[in-house]
Amino acid sequence: MSLFHYQKITHKRKLSPGPFKNYRTYKKYLKIEFDATCVYCRMPDSLSEEKSYAVEHYRPKSKFPHLETAYSNLFYSCCNCNGYKGSFWPDNSQKAMGMFVPNPCDHVMHDHLRSQAEGTIKPHSLTGQWAIELLDLNAPLQVKKRLTYLKFKKTIESQIADLKGTYSELEKNEKKIVDSKKLKSLQQDMADVERQILEYEDAIKIFGS
Ligand SMILES: [Zn+2]
Repeated sequence: MSLFHYQKITHKRKLSPGPFKNYRTYKKYLKIEFDATCVYCRMPDSLSEEKSYAVEHYRPKSKFPHLETAYSNLFYSCCNCNGYKGSFWPDNSQKAMGMFVPNPCDHVMHDHLRSQAEGTIKPHSLTGQWAIELLDLNAPLQVKKRLTYLKFKKTIESQIADLKGTYSELEKNEKKIVDSKKLKSLQQDMADVERQILEYEDAIKIFGS
């Protein structure tokens, strides 16, 4: 999945850990369940700090104490989104107007929120607009961070593509060379390019799968 992308289908939970008495115990499972990415702003924890990610109670524990350790009510989110959402829960009239925060298990996130190449998140529904405002998803620093990461990822991707092009050129030449000294030097170049490709491919993993 591409960076900051919102899913076009609802998420079916793969894990069913617990029951645990302390909701924090679920964090490591939620991290796997939701690809180590905040379900609301789509920032991967690899680009932040894992300790700045929280167990998010979709139905706030202050209003739904019986769901405090219910896995189906728990999500993986960054502390920003978790903090801004706080104990918000829509009343019936707000809900009817679409003033609620969508989650990837019950809603198609892409119907509400779209991430843009400029680093912003664009609303695609009233609910999306509401979520962007409540969670401050377009806070200038967040937009700047997203844009920087998107550009950085693109740069690495094009570096990898260029290096792969160079490698296949060298590979073509390899077949034509008869001089053993020249061949050795070319194979050394190929090994260097291969090593660089591996380094970039390793670096790009920070942006998640
Ligand atoms: Zn977030």
